[in-house]
Amino acid sequence: MKLILLGAPGAGKGTVAKLLTKLDGSVQISTGDILRAAVAAGSELGKQAEAAMKAGDLVSDELIMGIMGERLKEDDCKKGYLLDGFPRTIPQAEALKKLLADMGEKLDMAVDIQVAKDVILDRLTTRRTCTDCGAIYNVKSNPTKEEGKCDKCGGPVVQRDDETEEAISNRLDVYNKQTAPLADFYKKEGMLVAVNATSSDAVIDAIKAKLAS
Ligand code: ADP
Ligand code: ZN
Repeated sequence: MKLILLGAPGAGKGTVAKLLTKLDGSVQISTGDILRAAVAAGSELGKQAEAAMKAGDLVSDELIMGIMGERLKEDDCKKGYLLDGFPRTIPQAEALKKLLADMGEKLDMAVDIQVAKDVILDRLTTRRTCTDCGAIYNVKSNPTKEEGKCDKCGGPVVQRDDETEEAISNRLDVYNKQTAPLADFYKKEGMLVAVNATSSDAVIDAIKAKLAS
């Protein structure tokens, strides 16, 4: 399947994407993960993205389109892909539309994962991430067995730089201003599926139903 996952930070895009990869071998492509890996590696890309990320601002559309233009042409995308955290602005959505048209590809749908704001705030402040494998934990609902150590790979599990209260509040503002309008964009394209996300499984079921229809 070829999907775009929309939704505020903390809506559960990454969790849903990971579950979907197991259904049909589609790959999860998270621009956030790609950028964090670049920052950790200290590459040129990482240096260009670091300050914006730390503040919870978006990195430039140009930088993102450079990454995604390459990424979508890789072999593992042939089985399908789940775009997690991309596109994030109207210009990115326009550029993606053109890129896919040039490649002769078509997306199945754009899924808007909708979660109440208080739930999101609570999730983001309690979220912890493995810096080695990207596994996501939650200090309240899904803690690591051993504190600060990843159950899956043993790597360090920490609070992300952009998960301080100030950065989170900025990320939500940025989301409302720059990313929320994408729902309308994809509605006009006839591709939008809005799901009220009570649980990741509910989102998966809604996607399966839509794919089958
Ligand atoms: P979130 O949990 O907020 O969805 P991500 O892991 O998707 O976070 O992204 C982390 C940060 O990486 C963003 O706050 C932003 O600075 C940058 N980023 C990721 N994807 C994009 C994108 N498509 N366009 C611009 N910036 C992006
Ligand atoms: Zn890990």
